[in-house]
Amino acid sequence: MHEQIELLKALQELDHELNSIRQQRRELEKEQAELNSEKERIQIMVDGLDEEIDKLQSQQAELQQGLAQEESNIQRSEERLPEIKTQKEYLAVLKEIDSAKKVIKDLQTQLEGLTAQIADLNAEKDEKLKQMEELQERFESRNAEIAEALKAFDQALEAKASQRSTHIDPLPKQLQKRYTLLMERRDGVAVVEARDGNCTGCHMHLPPQLFNSLFLNPKIQSCPHCNRLLYVIESEG
Ligand SMILES: [Zn+2]
Repeated sequence: MHEQIELLKALQELDHELNSIRQQRRELEKEQAELNSEKERIQIMVDGLDEEIDKLQSQQAELQQGLAQEESNIQRSEERLPEIKTQKEYLAVLKEIDSAKKVIKDLQTQLEGLTAQIADLNAEKDEKLKQMEELQERFESRNAEIAEALKAFDQALEAKASQRSTHIDPLPKQLQKRYTLLMERRDGVAVVEARDGNCTGCHMHLPPQLFNSLFLNPKIQSCPHCNRLLYVIESEG
């Protein structure tokens, strides 16, 4: 029994180490995923800005085309002026020129607004690209660290897994099952010390007969309250 309980204690200690490594591993993977999603988040913003800039630039091109059209209309009208014979027609053409000039002024105002808007968006985009670059740098160096750590964890897990079999394999199958089930159902603590008449797993009082028998009986016994496997530390002398 002594030997079995020693194996169980060693097994549990190893399982705690394994769990802690797995936990740290998961945290690193989570950090990696967060870094990735931060990058994606900025990329989505940059893409959105690009789209908006494209849209405004095509509006800008349309306005410029309209402006060129109005300017050539004015030019044509002005060229016609010397050939005009009647006062009435002359005034009509002048009116055309005048209204074209108004349209041009309006288009120019719109263009100025658009140009300013595009400049703002480009500045915003530059800002995001800078953020992205910084993030990329941070990402690359941190990612290298994480990859290194994950590799070390994997090696440790592998080494401990083979160490684990030397603890669990010699135990009877039934006891292996009990241990595994308790680890799952009792928050990863299957083997506990019985001390001063109490189970240190659930802190309940053990029947005195059971507690006393732990010192004498070679059979592995369970706490009647939490079912955890009990051991006692015999005082020296
Ligand atoms: Zn208990």
